[in-house]
Amino acid sequence: MIEVIKNYVNGELTAPSSNNYIDVFEPATGKIYSHVPNSDDKDTDFAVSAAKKAFPVWSKHSIKTRSNYLLKLASEIKKDSEDLAFYESRDTGKPISLARRLDIPRAIENFTFFSDYTQNFTDYFTFESKDSKNHIQKSPLGVVACITPWNLPLYLLTWKIVPALIMGNTVVAKPSEITPYTAFKLAEICKRINLPPGVLNIINGSGDKVGKRITNHPDIKAISFTGGTETGGKIFSKASRTFKKLALEMGGKNPAIIFEDCNYDQMLETVIKSSFTNQGQICLCSSRLLIDESIYEKFKIDFCERVSKIRIGDPNDTETQFGAITSKPHFDKINHYINLIDKENGSILVGGNIKKMDNRCEKGWFIEPTVVEGLGIDSQLNKDEIFGPIVTLQTFSSEEGVIKLANKTKYGLSATIWSEDISKANRVAEKIDSGVIWINCWMVRDLRTPFGGLKQSGYGKEGGEDALRFFTEQKNICIQS
Ligand code: NAD
Repeated sequence: MIEVIKNYVNGELTAPSSNNYIDVFEPATGKIYSHVPNSDDKDTDFAVSAAKKAFPVWSKHSIKTRSNYLLKLASEIKKDSEDLAFYESRDTGKPISLARRLDIPRAIENFTFFSDYTQNFTDYFTFESKDSKNHIQKSPLGVVACITPWNLPLYLLTWKIVPALIMGNTVVAKPSEITPYTAFKLAEICKRINLPPGVLNIINGSGDKVGKRITNHPDIKAISFTGGTETGGKIFSKASRTFKKLALEMGGKNPAIIFEDCNYDQMLETVIKSSFTNQGQICLCSSRLLIDESIYEKFKIDFCERVSKIRIGDPNDTETQFGAITSKPHFDKINHYINLIDKENGSILVGGNIKKMDNRCEKGWFIEPTVVEGLGIDSQLNKDEIFGPIVTLQTFSSEEGVIKLANKTKYGLSATIWSEDISKANRVAEKIDSGVIWINCWMVRDLRTPFGGLKQSGYGKEGGEDALRFFTEQKNICIQS
């Protein structure tokens, strides 16, 4: 039976006013399993007005009171962890083991982290001089919007809504129409804990309708967006008309820089993960592997051998390491790049095929993890964000050379550096134009640190202090001494 997802507006689960829906597919089977509201301006405006109505009371609560509501949500998510992991895996095609290990625990941590982090938050500070006394007051913005992508649905949604809510804003959230299911379950949890109506509203639909309306709505004060650079650019240009505050976390083309003096086994193990976790559909995944030419042949053989052993399978199977591609258009896009490899004079070392599956998954969207060498620096495969299971190999022979190579992209999201010479690794890190750089590790996150890309990967930062600053406004009240 096809399940019907609802919007969550003013504390109620509601159908879209037009009664229009979008099909939601299970990537592992290629079949429709639910319908999500195809909301329009009217639905979006209703969500904004509910958030506006809830703001005066919610913003006057103490951080402690708001935090108590949020911790209740976290504890309900924890109780439902196993179901939520299953839903996330069904919606995205990721292995259930990954949803259990990463997506749901991190969603819970987003709540507990911001709750702890704001314990000692003060909403004012003062500067005194011989001429004046300045009282600086920090206040929530009002109604803010959070727009999120399909690769880490609940993880990224909660990463935004929690700091927004804890700072006293009310929220209109728009999950990806491709993977809306865990946001719907979050809405049910909000009802279960009696979150006051209008504090959080979850409005489903396409970017073209709901996303656009959010972007030009005069009562929305800020947008925290994660998604593609092209969409971020559209939001940037449209939102300027209403002078919204913006935080845009966008695409990447991340280098992994592998020096010959690295801890080889640790590097190999982690680079496999950084390349192919979530089928390469994490914005932080390594997609360009830059390898010291002195170890290139050895690395190529060892890496390809390991890649060929990655267990591709039904996401429901706990042994599966690599699942399905999240949507058919994205599957087609990745295949387009596979077809380009030959034209761009590249050679496929491993993978490069659609993976034919049996039984339940025979119509699913599976592509083998793919490793390519021999492509030019300016090839599309080395320039474009593919956001899938394709990595390219390139060699380097000097520190300066690899820095140039790493920076030869319009993106600047993340990079990894592998070397046991920490002063060299730090020296290189300083010269790499990326917002997040890992030395001898990957995806190790301290949520207090600023998170976000440089160049066309990011505009504004998330995490820790930056998130709190983003979701507040400051006012200076000056009295002459
Ligand atoms: P997308 O840009 O297509 O969509 C993201 C969200 O924006 C969706 O909810 C979508 O409906 C909405 N949207 C689409 N058009 C819109 C418009 N005109 N106005 C307002 N909203 C609109 O991205 P995607 O395909 O869902 O996600 C993949 C992209 O996300 C990749 O580029 C990836 O690198 C990026 N990403 C970045 C980070 C990061 O932290 N930098 C994290 C995860 C994903």
